Amino acid sequence: MTNVEDIGVLPGEPRMLIDGELQLTDSGASFDVEHPATAEVVGQATDATVADMERAVGAATRAFGHTEWSRDVEFRHHCLMQLHQALDRNKERLRRVLITEVGCPITVTASQIEDPIAEVKHWADYGRSFDYQVDTGMHETALGPARRRLHYEPMGVVGAITPWNVPFYLNVAETIPALMAGNTVVLKPAQLTPWSGSELGRIVAEETDIPAGVFNVVTSNSNEVGAALSADPRVDMITFTGSTATGRAILAAGAPTVKKTLLELGGKSAHIVLDDADFNSALPLAAMMACVMSGQSCILPSRILLPRSRYEEGLALLKASMENFPVGDPWTPGVMQGPQISAAQRQKVLGLIESGIASGARLITGGGVPENLPRGYYTQPTLLADVDPDSQIAQEEIFGPVLTVTPYDGDDDAIAIANNSIYGLSGEVSSGDVDRALAVATRMRTGNVTINGKSHFGITSPFGGTKQSGLGYRNGSHGYLEYLAIKTIGLPG
Ligand code: NAD
Repeated sequence: MTNVEDIGVLPGEPRMLIDGELQLTDSGASFDVEHPATAEVVGQATDATVADMERAVGAATRAFGHTEWSRDVEFRHHCLMQLHQALDRNKERLRRVLITEVGCPITVTASQIEDPIAEVKHWADYGRSFDYQVDTGMHETALGPARRRLHYEPMGVVGAITPWNVPFYLNVAETIPALMAGNTVVLKPAQLTPWSGSELGRIVAEETDIPAGVFNVVTSNSNEVGAALSADPRVDMITFTGSTATGRAILAAGAPTVKKTLLELGGKSAHIVLDDADFNSALPLAAMMACVMSGQSCILPSRILLPRSRYEEGLALLKASMENFPVGDPWTPGVMQGPQISAAQRQKVLGLIESGIASGARLITGGGVPENLPRGYYTQPTLLADVDPDSQIAQEEIFGPVLTVTPYDGDDDAIAIANNSIYGLSGEVSSGDVDRALAVATRMRTGNVTINGKSHFGITSPFGGTKQSGLGYRNGSHGYLEYLAIKTIGLPG
């Protein structure tokens, strides 16, 4: 439970972590961090250089080769349980830092604070009980019978690059399974949210026995520093969450050294509302999903497909829900939608709304800045109807509190519109008949589907995108295996 006196803007740790030392860059250079609810600069983070990144990769390389980290699973479990407990002690500080740099409403922070802290324990326990050496028995071969063993070994140095929308959660999701699997890590947080990374670095340095160099955090205002990490030949694997455009650049940067690359990228998910769906439960929930986190969610089903026979009924329900959505100061309990993260991000959202209207979409509600919230980067919950499935607003990720609605005629038409996207991250089907919904979900070309509001997302289930939404998986046993190489050994029986 959060006490009222425990809330309010809190600047985070300004130093990065390299080779066990919290430090500034040599020149002392830093960059500003804004609170998106007020547009005020509230502190600074270290603006690291490419040379700092090279030092961090050097530290991670040494720690992989010269500490027991990669070989001692009990020690890793001990350290990550220490980290879990330390994060829990720092929970309210982490929450305030998160709200300060993202503007995420305090009411909806549990999934971004409590859940990732619990996930540290999950991975520590999962990794401790994982069978790293498996005897697969005798195999017939051309050279006679041979016994075979599989050894699951860490990849080596893992570079983790994270986005700003759910920064603390993703910093944990990308680095903790990698660490538990025996890798050493260099984390490069997003420019807009350096503190959710540097706070993690501070806690590792001050409150755990994790050896120097095993975990490094390099904050920078320059994309070149992330690019240097993704191209460094000493880095064995990149784990990345962010836009598809950056994912392509990272894949290309790693190609010369054939780097293993795990990519969780953008999405433009469709919600197919079938004609037998319970509109009164499906559509208010759809509106909530669009507005909570200010629409800054990769898995948001932002393209609503309504059957033509119930089109105006669906629009009326969505309009009422969006107009009554609690938008405001993220520190106020009960507020569910805060600001966009930055001026540029809001400008992008407003520009896409304009392009939608220019391409023939009908503005049903919203479309601008709330009059009662002139300060900060707020956007009105926005509903656009009659959206052409080929138009820019139907094809590009908006990352704002915006739903586009397109009518369809029959299930085949709905599925074709849903699949008309370069992305394949997520999707949703609402129907009164679960078998019918499942049949539709099966035909959606996407990595994850929600049926009647039931979430697909959780630490024990694999999560990944198809098409240009990603490569590989987080979570579940698949998510742990991503951070391990398999050595197959043939030996005499
Ligand atoms: P982004 O791609 O702009 O930046 C992500 C990170 O990449 C940042 O740390 C940035 O500094 C770094 N970066 C930028 N250029 C780079 C380069 N050339 N080489 C290496 N690193 C570089 O993304 P964003 O705007 O921070 O985040 C929003 C995006 O993230 C959206 O597209 C969203 O869908 C996606 N996202 C996906 C998931 C998922 O699980 N699939 C989850 C959250 C967010």
